[in-house]
Amino acid sequence: MAATNHFMELALAEARSAGERGEVPIGAVVVLDGKIIARAGNRTRELNDVTAHAEIVAIRLACEELSQERLAGADLYVTLEPCTMCAAAISFARIRRLYYGAEDPKGGGVDNGVRFYQQPTCHHAPEVYSGLGEISSAEILRRFFQAKRSED
Ligand SMILES: [Zn+2]
Repeated sequence: MAATNHFMELALAEARSAGERGEVPIGAVVVLDGKIIARAGNRTRELNDVTAHAEIVAIRLACEELSQERLAGADLYVTLEPCTMCAAAISFARIRRLYYGAEDPKGGGVDNGVRFYQQPTCHHAPEVYSGLGEISSAEILRRFFQAKRSED
């Protein structure tokens, strides 16, 4: 399935710029009422912060932008299946819908790994839609790691 949409395209653009900065190329966009509230790519290297995944950075920016603690009613678009940490942050932020691109069998926490939203300790689960822009998302990651390997 190659389906994508405008917001996922922007998330993919954020992923590409993250890759150009030497970060793992993952991008995220927060949308509320059809309006983009925040967009971000991974910044773990730049900030020396293991929690600076695209989703977390985008959620922080969106909360700052709206001056509120949570993002009820907002949707999050991210190019790769969120890890467990981000899945939890998305839940805590009360995100309404999560759209992600490629699945991440190695590090994902939504449809792989702990499947956070299916646990009784998860008190808010977003609606999850996967596969949006997954081919581009996987391709960006594949190229990044291929280039990285050839540097070593
Ligand atoms: Zn994450």
